[in-house]
Amino acid sequence: MSVKLPLPPGATLGILGGGQLGRMLAQAAARLGFDVAILEPEQDSPAARVAAHHVVGAYDDAESLKALAKLVSVVTFEFENVPSAAVELLSGLGVEVAPGAMALAVAQDRVTEKSFLNQAGVATVAFEAADSPESAVAAVAKLGAPCLMKTRREGYDGKGQMWVESAAAAAAAFATLGGKPVILEAPAEFVRELSIIAARGRDGALAIYPLAENHHEKGVLRRSVAPAKVTSETAEQAERIAAKVLKALDYVGVVGIELFELSDGKLLVNEIAPRVHNTGHWTQDGCEVDQFEQHIRAVAGWPLGPTAAKSNVEMLNLLGDEIEAWPKFSAEPETRVHLYGKREIKPGRKMGHVNRIRGPV
Ligand code: AMP
Repeated sequence: MSVKLPLPPGATLGILGGGQLGRMLAQAAARLGFDVAILEPEQDSPAARVAAHHVVGAYDDAESLKALAKLVSVVTFEFENVPSAAVELLSGLGVEVAPGAMALAVAQDRVTEKSFLNQAGVATVAFEAADSPESAVAAVAKLGAPCLMKTRREGYDGKGQMWVESAAAAAAAFATLGGKPVILEAPAEFVRELSIIAARGRDGALAIYPLAENHHEKGVLRRSVAPAKVTSETAEQAERIAAKVLKALDYVGVVGIELFELSDGKLLVNEIAPRVHNTGHWTQDGCEVDQFEQHIRAVAGWPLGPTAAKSNVEMLNLLGDEIEAWPKFSAEPETRVHLYGKREIKPGRKMGHVNRIRGPV
């Protein structure tokens, strides 16, 4: 059975994951006339509360995936750790999953990701893989200390990583990170962290947004300023990187690419997220078509929309109890408030964000 594209308004679109990214994707899909079905293990989730259908179940539960496949012909996801078995099962039931299995496999493993990038002609920091205390020591000896040890899989927001100050310290670091396979990365001597959000349609068309400049604290994004003030050479360099990544992955949908800007202007890719990205939230109020609508357009086989920036935007994440400042933000005429409807405030939890408009571009 092949899926008929473009998906017409009135059709139901599936999303794996019920967090804030799923919620904003569902809201964009609704604006284009789609119903959304969320698959998410939690009963009460930000995305399910704005969706027409909610299948409650684990992402690797065959019955839940079958229930989702009865509702939809196209499925996307809001997080990169979707089990490959889920994609295989859905594909076997005739469901189109986008972005595809290759993008997931690349993004789920930091060594596979960096090897893929280098093969595609995209520069990264030097790296080594290790899967034992001995190989971790050898890897640090080869790369030189200090270097950054990260678990190959399932790290996010700065979790599952630590600096290693000497080869001798590598064995203990390997144990601290749980004795799992790791990557060791040479330090990126960056002057700024940038990111580029880009999309590829079913027909191979590309849509690339202006760069964002990002500020992290303890590995978590605090603030993005966009469009970033960059030279035209830097913008073109980033666009070339995005185009190479999207083509090499035969990608459909929006990708977020995190970049290190070095003092000589060279860009290195830190990581790629095969989904809408926190550093692209500024597009909701800064661009003609935002990253969420762009992603839905791509996976539904619609033409991609324009990516030009209309406004300068400063995006601030509201972490934990910072959400309690919503009355202040909502009273600022230049500020657009986006709250995720999470029931419980936890320290550091992404509860919402605001886009402060800083004048026209
Ligand atoms: P990641 O989990 O890979 O996105 O890393 C989280 C943050 O750690 C990045 O946004 C950087 O600030 C920092 N970081 C990651 N990798 C490196 C590296 N190789 N060198 C220096 N800083 C890094």
